[in-house]
Order: sequence, then C-alpha cells, then structure tokens
Amino acid sequence: MSEKPQQLTSDNYSGVAPEVLNAIIQANNNYAESYGNDPWTVEACELIRQKFECDCEVFFVFNGTAANALTLAQICTPFHSVIAADTAHIVTDECGAPGFFSGGSQIFTATNVNGKLPVDAVDYFVNKRNDLHYPKPRAVTITQSTECGTCYTPQEITAITRQAHTHDLVVQMDGARFANAVAWNNCTPAELSWKAGIDVMTFGGSKNGGMLGEALIFFRKELAEDFSYRCKQSGQLGSKLRFISAQFIGLLQNDIFLKNARHANNMAQYLADELIKFPGIKLMFPTQANAVFVEMPPRAAEKLQNSGWHFYSFIGAGGIRLMTSWNTRPETVEAFVNDCRDALTLI
Ligand SMILES: *Cc1c(COP(=O)(O)O)cnc(C)c1O
Repeated sequence: MSEKPQQLTSDNYSGVAPEVLNAIIQANNNYAESYGNDPWTVEACELIRQKFECDCEVFFVFNGTAANALTLAQICTPFHSVIAADTAHIVTDECGAPGFFSGGSQIFTATNVNGKLPVDAVDYFVNKRNDLHYPKPRAVTITQSTECGTCYTPQEITAITRQAHTHDLVVQMDGARFANAVAWNNCTPAELSWKAGIDVMTFGGSKNGGMLGEALIFFRKELAEDFSYRCKQSGQLGSKLRFISAQFIGLLQNDIFLKNARHANNMAQYLADELIKFPGIKLMFPTQANAVFVEMPPRAAEKLQNSGWHFYSFIGAGGIRLMTSWNTRPETVEAFVNDCRDALTLI
C-alpha cells in the first residue's frame, strides 16, 4: 500500500492556507489583550460585518460542533425541539451535543431530498401536535452546503425561513461550508443568509483553509444576549482568541474564502465529470459544492483502498464520498481517475 501525496477524503485533511498562516503570524505581535479584547478580533468582526453587509453580533469558537450546539442551545430551552434534515451534521455527527448543551432539547428529523430539508417539514412538525407533552418546535436548521454536497439557493432558503417565521421559529444555518455555497450560487454572503431570512449562522473556517475555528454570526442581535457566558461556560472561549479570529482576516481579505471555495468546487466538478465517463460509476447527488458521491462496484472501491486511497463509505453498499479542498491539485484528481479506470477494468 502506497501513501498518496494528497487524498480526496475530506476537506479537513488539507493544511492551512498561506494567507491564514500569515494572518496568524501578524497577530503574533508581542503582547495583546486576551479573551477577544484585541485589535485582530475587532478587525475580524468588522470584516465579517462588511462582507455580510449587516450590523451583526460575531463570536468565535474552536470547532463546528460547538458552533452548532451553542447557537442552538442559545435559541432552545430544554423543552424545545429543532427541525432538521435526517442527514444534518447535528443529527449524525455531533454525538448529541445540541441536546446536551441545551439541557435536553430534541431534534425532529425529516427525510432529506438531496441533502436538503423539504419546505413542508416545518409545517408538518409544528402542526403535528401542540400539546404540552410534545417538545415545542423552536428552531429550524439547514446546512449550507449540505452534507450531500448540494447547495440551497437563496429562493429555497427563503421558502423555508418564511414558513419558520410564520410559526415564530428561529432559523439557524450550519455554514461549515458556507463559502462553497456562496461560490456555487455566485451571489453575495448577505443574499445567502440574512436577506434570505437566516437568523443565526455558523461560518466555517477549518474546511475553507483555516487551521481551526468557526465564526458565529447572529443577524438578530437580540438573540446573542449573554452568549459570551455560554461560550465561556462550555470551554469555548479562547484566552488567546486572536489566533482564531485573525484567521478570518486572512480568509476574508481579498476574498480568499471565495477563491479557496471556488477552487475546491472546480476540482470536485472536474472529478465528477471524469468519473461519470465510466459506465461502472454512478453519481449519487448533483455535484455542486466540493463533495462527490459515487456508487461503484464494491470490489473496485476495495481495490482503490488497497492502492492507498482513503475515503468514507457513506450511503448504501459501494457508496463513497470524495472531497476536494482549497489545495487539491488537478494531478490528484487525475491520479484517482486513472486508478479508478484500473480498478474497474480489473474486476
Ligand atoms: C465538519 C462539519 C462541521 C463541524 O465539525 P467539527 O468536526 O466539530 O469541526 C459542522 N457541520 C458540517 C456540515 C460539517 O461538515
């Protein structure tokens, strides 16, 4: 088994973008105030407000699970519930963190359509029951881009947030790969968030070329009341916060976040275009962001693994997820495609 110079396993396999590393080095300037009272954190917040064209409240935490769990816990009391697609990261990949941090709130899951929450799921769960034995729906969450590599359009988001707001629900967006969705939609961050009715969102840094950390954005500022206490109590307030926040300066200045996302999306499209040329390979979802989901004969997948490729098996027998990132090289895509050709002809 040979070690590959680059893998297509996940966007968090990739290293740190040079602009981010440079921003961290700039922040490594002798002494600065701690816990976010430093000039880099102030600048990062200001840049986020500019990019989103909104006077919003901004916070930073160490990772995406905390970002989701703490924003949802801020919205929900222990007797509330959250409406989500069954594929949502908060449902399948966060070890119950949202329920834990909110002290007991429950997640209602709707069957996803290409990774998306169907619009009528909101009415369905709100109208299903309204007695006090039923966890009261309080929030709706969507993931952008979705766990299946698809992207909501601003119109699709608006349809969901309209329904949610009719019932006085708060809409949270898991934006671990928000940049990829902005790139695919070719619209502004504002059009894909608060202008489409999003109330609170997480804005991913790690998978976009950051080292670690996510930004939290409250478009409805009143929802952020006392949120710093929640970050502190849950162990998510960095004392040297400037090294998390400064990364967002590196990502936002000169729209590096979009450059990184566009590159990742383009590499995914290249990979998908090549793979669907093989009769033995079928795309499971449209490739829009930076993930490519394919079905191939299990023996071919096994051969690829034996030749050193790592990937996650996802839905169904033979279904595999491939992911590109800000630094995926075209040669890596080509090497994978060539090995696929061999694996498929040998079986
Ligand atoms: C990666 C990811 C997160 C964050 O995960 P952490 O490992 O906790 O940083 C959140 N949502 C989605 C959709 C993700 O893919």
